[in-house]
Amino acid sequence: MAKIAINIATGSLQKEEIIVGIDLGTTNSLIAIIHPETKQPVALKEHNSASLVPSVIYFDEAGNVTVGEEARDHLITSPHQTIFSAKRLMGKSYQDLKNHASFFTYKIIDDNSESLVKVQVADKFYSPVDLSSFILKELKHRAEHILKTPVNKAVITVPAYFNDAQRQATRDAGKLAGLDVLRIINEPTAASLAYGIGLDKSEESIIAVYDLGGGTFDISILRITGGIFEVLSTNGDTYLGGDDFDNAIVKHWAAEAGISDEDLQANKSLAQALRLEAEAAKKYLSDNDVFETVLHGDPLVLSKKTFEELIATFVNTSISCCRKALKDASLEPKDIGTVVMVGGSTRVPLVKKSVSEFFGRTVNDSVNPDEVVALGAAIQADILAGNNRDLLLLDITALSLGIETAGGLMDVLIPRNAKIPSRASRQYTTQVDGQPGMRISVYQGERDLVKDNRKLAEFNLSNIPGMPAGMPKVEIGFLINADGILTVTARELRSGIEQSIEVKPQYGLTDAEVEQMLLESITHAKDDIAMRAITEARTEAEQLLKTTERFLQKNATLLTQEELLQTAASMQALQLSITMNDKDLIHKKIEELNDISRPYAERVMDEAISKAMSGKKI
Ligand code: ADP
Ligand code: MG
Repeated sequence: MAKIAINIATGSLQKEEIIVGIDLGTTNSLIAIIHPETKQPVALKEHNSASLVPSVIYFDEAGNVTVGEEARDHLITSPHQTIFSAKRLMGKSYQDLKNHASFFTYKIIDDNSESLVKVQVADKFYSPVDLSSFILKELKHRAEHILKTPVNKAVITVPAYFNDAQRQATRDAGKLAGLDVLRIINEPTAASLAYGIGLDKSEESIIAVYDLGGGTFDISILRITGGIFEVLSTNGDTYLGGDDFDNAIVKHWAAEAGISDEDLQANKSLAQALRLEAEAAKKYLSDNDVFETVLHGDPLVLSKKTFEELIATFVNTSISCCRKALKDASLEPKDIGTVVMVGGSTRVPLVKKSVSEFFGRTVNDSVNPDEVVALGAAIQADILAGNNRDLLLLDITALSLGIETAGGLMDVLIPRNAKIPSRASRQYTTQVDGQPGMRISVYQGERDLVKDNRKLAEFNLSNIPGMPAGMPKVEIGFLINADGILTVTARELRSGIEQSIEVKPQYGLTDAEVEQMLLESITHAKDDIAMRAITEARTEAEQLLKTTERFLQKNATLLTQEELLQTAASMQALQLSITMNDKDLIHKKIEELNDISRPYAERVMDEAISKAMSGKKI
C-alpha cells in the first residue's frame, strides 16, 4: 500500500515536467493542461483549429496512418480502411459485439468469438489497443508541437462503467503511444473536477453527470466526500448518441426524397454525404430555428420542431436511464445537488430542457461540454504533479497485481493505482484435455512478461475432474483488504473445488524498488507490448493447430482428399509462421486455416446433427 504522494516525493515525477489530461473519446479526443500562468485548465489547440481531434484512424494503401479530421474525410470514400469508434472495441470479444456487427463498416475478425477482437485492414491486423494508441500518439504529437516540449506523462479518462480489462487496455494504449499513464480516472469524476466540485475537502455532495456524446450515453451518480469520488450507480446506453440524431435526420430526408433504405445502403457515398449534412443541420439547430442547404442540386430543409420530433424517443430513452440510475442508488431527483452536462450532444436545447425537467433544477452547462472531461483530467494531472492541494490522496496499490497466463504473460487483475480495498475476479480455463490441476502464480509489477515481474505466491488448484481443454471454468478472485493484504482464491465453477492463499503484496519492497519497477516498465513498454502481441498470436495459433488436429483425427474419413491436402499445407504454413517474429503473418495464416476448415467443419457438424436427429442408428 502506498500513497501516491510518496511516489511523487521519491522522484518518479519531476515538478517541471508537464502532465497532460486526455479525454480519449469514442467520437472525439482531446488533450488539456493547466496553463502555467493562469493556473486554469485549457484545452490545447493550434491557432484557428479545434481542440477536438476526431477519434478516426485512416490507413492508406501503403499502410501509413492518419488520425483526426483528415482521417474522418475518408469515412465516405474508404470505409474499409477508416476506423471509427475504436473505443467500443476496447477489452471486447467478438461475442460481445456481434449484435452490433452491422454498425462497423470495417472488418472485425470473427473467427474466435471469445478472444479479444482484432480489426483487419488490408493484410494487417490491429488490436483495439493498437488503434487507441494511434489516437493517443497523434494527441501527444500535437501537444508537443503546441507546447514545444516533450509530453510523456498523462492522466487518461474512461467511462465509469469500464471494467478492469478495458481500463488495462486503455493503459496499454497509452504505454504504446509512449505515455506513462499516471492515472486512469472516470469521465464523470473529471467532469465534476472541471466544475470545481470535490476540490474542497470538507465538501459533501451528490451529483449527477449526464454525458451524451457521439455514440454513447452515460449517466453517473457520484457521492463526493472529503475528496473521494464514489460511483453510486451508472446507467446508460452504449449505442445512443448524437450519431442517432444524425441518422434520424438522414432517414427523414431520404423518406422525403423517396429514397429507400436499400438504395441508401447500396449508395454508401450518398448516405455518408447526407450524414455530414445531417450533422451540420443538427449543430446549426442548437442555435437557430431552420436549417437549409442544397445537396447535389436538391434542397435539404429541417426545422427545429421537426428535429425535436425526430429525436424525442432518444431523449426519452436517456431520461429512463437517469430514472434507473437514481433507483439503483436509492435516490430521488431531489437528492441530487448538482447536475453536470457533458458531451457535444448536450448542446441540443431539447436535451438540456428534458434533463433539467427530470431533475427539477437548472443544469450546469457553463463549461464547454466538449472539453469538460479533458479539463478535469488536467486538474487531476496537476494534483498528481503535486502542484495543487493535498487532494485525492486515496490509498492505492503501487504496482499491478495479476497472474501468469499462457506463454508467460502477466494478466493484471488489479491495476496499479487501484483504490484499496479492492476486489477483482476473472475466469480462466485449461489448455490440455483432462488437465487435473492448475498452477496459479501471482505476480506484482508492470511488465508484460511475468519473468520481468516479482513473484508473490504460487499455489495449485488440484483435483479438477477430467474435462476437455477449455471446459473447466476456473474463477480466480483477488481481494485486497483495507490493510493491503491480498487474498487469492481459485474455484472451478463446474465442480466447486476451491483453494485460496493469503499474500502480503509489497512485503519487503522499498519505495525505491517500487520506483525502479515502474521506471523499467516505462523503458520497456514498447518491447513489452510487441512481445505480448506476438505471444498472444502464437498461443492462438498453437491452440488452433491443436483443435484442427483433434478434429482431423476424429473426422478424417468425412473429408475429401483435397480438403485434407489443403488443410495439411495450411497447418504447415501456420506452424512455420509461429517460428517467425511477425504477428501479422501469424494472424494471416490463422485466417487462412480458418477459411479452409470452416466449410467442412460446418458440413461435418450438420451431418452429426442430422444423424442425431434420425434416431441414433449407428
Ligand atoms: P464522445 O464523448 O462520444 O467522443 P463528444 O462529446 O465529442 O463525443 O460529442 C460528439 C457529438 O456531439 C457528435 O454527435 C456531434 O455531432 C455532437 N455535437 C457537437 N456539437 C454539437 C452542437 N452544437 N449541437 C448538437 N450536437 C453537437
Ligand atoms: Mg466523451
